[in-house]
Amino acid sequence: MNETGLLPPKSPFEARNLCGDSWLESTNTVSTTSPYTNSLLCRVSYADHKIIEQTIDEAQKAFTVWSRTPIKERSSILLRFRELLLRDIDSISSSASLESGKTLAEARAEVLKGIEVLEFATSLENSDTGGLLEVSRGVTCEYRREALGVVLGITPFNFPAMVPMWMIPIAIAVGNSLILKPSEKVAYTPCLLGELLLEAGLPPGVFSILHGDKAVVERLITHPGISAVGFVGSTPAAQAVYQQATLHEKRALCLGGAKNHIIVVPDGPHDITVDGIVASYTGCAGQRCMAASVLVCVGDCDSIVQGVLARSTQLRLGADMGCLISNAAITRLHTALDTARKQGATLLLDGRNTPATPPPPFQDGNWLAPSIIDNVTPDMECAQEELFGPILSIIRVNTVDEALALEAKSPYGNALSVFTSSGDVARYVSNNATAGMVGINIGVPVPREPFSFGGTKRSKFGSGDITGNAGVDFWSNKKKITTKWSVQSDKNWMS
Ligand code: NAD
Repeated sequence: MNETGLLPPKSPFEARNLCGDSWLESTNTVSTTSPYTNSLLCRVSYADHKIIEQTIDEAQKAFTVWSRTPIKERSSILLRFRELLLRDIDSISSSASLESGKTLAEARAEVLKGIEVLEFATSLENSDTGGLLEVSRGVTCEYRREALGVVLGITPFNFPAMVPMWMIPIAIAVGNSLILKPSEKVAYTPCLLGELLLEAGLPPGVFSILHGDKAVVERLITHPGISAVGFVGSTPAAQAVYQQATLHEKRALCLGGAKNHIIVVPDGPHDITVDGIVASYTGCAGQRCMAASVLVCVGDCDSIVQGVLARSTQLRLGADMGCLISNAAITRLHTALDTARKQGATLLLDGRNTPATPPPPFQDGNWLAPSIIDNVTPDMECAQEELFGPILSIIRVNTVDEALALEAKSPYGNALSVFTSSGDVARYVSNNATAGMVGINIGVPVPREPFSFGGTKRSKFGSGDITGNAGVDFWSNKKKITTKWSVQSDKNWMS
């Protein structure tokens, strides 16, 4: 055992396609490496035409039975799935960590967050009872929730377990068959979820996995057998998938990238503010769509900045912070730091002057320590682009309105947080922020079910949100039934 707590597998993982209850292999196998070692981690079998057609066919067959299965029966299988996830949480977390680069503790936390969505989905059997109203004498209107058919979920690399779990439990609980196309970079962890769903008793075909890259996505989102597409990933891909899917008359909700702001005012509670900022920009090595990227200091916040700097230098690579997904990501972030300096900003903390990296076999991982760029102006690249790494850019302004104007100009709208002891400031910022998710004295304001997850502007294409009550609405239709009960005759068979 070492600082990371991780043990690389003795032989590479194999990620195959789940079709019915069979794990199918194609002739096109692509290898991935672990961000921790840059050595072979997984062989991913990309779905070919035959596997795609067979999988959609199995999913459709399963749908006809599953959609008519009472919700209590569907929930009981998902409850068994929950038990199995808790039984296997160590191996799932280890796989998610090795594949994505996050720490073991972060990977465990993501599995638990996924389980929260699962718990919400299993509660629908008691809460989603439909509505009925007598709209005029003897006439009622009611809702009946119905599944959509075979639906598709496409997920990113940074949460190998949690983002699939945003989709799987809700889509399945309401009666769909779901096909997951996970990120090709983290293809193995979702296979563990697939194995557990089968073990829990989910009928084959209700959940399937197809591996591959953009080419497989394009086949699926234009396929007539797919009814709806949920997507989570970068903004260019989210926009492209949304446009293609809706052009082909699918319901689509595509969550994209982010550039999240944290506003601090001088009255911010010092330790909570410092801890919240550091956890937000360094957690998962900054590879989170909810990560803080721009710190907007209103007035004199120097003691907060000094606290953030001090705390950031204490983080130990491998123990407190994981690594980046790829060498390409490291190169991109190094370039971003150089560009910031060339554009006139100050590197208050340069993560390339790296403290000790973890011992073998992890010394070759994609490490970058926390980095802080000060004296940033709004026009600089580091103030505008999603960097997706442990880099915090600091912009200084004089008023809360100036801070809000900066946030409003961002093309992204995922999260905004404010740290303050003033209720007035908190209320003013939350009322006027353009982001879809706002935090008050919380650096990563992920809403918990039944509240739903989703941003605004170019962080989301399509309406609604992916989890919570809005997720239930996305993955289903509400049929409206109007009945006239008083068929007037003095006697009928009941009298
Ligand atoms: P990505 O867009 O590269 O990949 C996401 C998925 O889309 C993968 O399954 C991939 O195979 C597929 N894909 C990639 N390019 C595609 C294209 N051109 N057309 C169709 N499909 C394509 O994203 P990533 O690098 O895996 O993940 C990081 C990104 O995801 C960041 O931008 C991050 O902000 C974003 N993200 C957003 C949220 C959110 O909730 N808004 C959550 C997590 C991650």
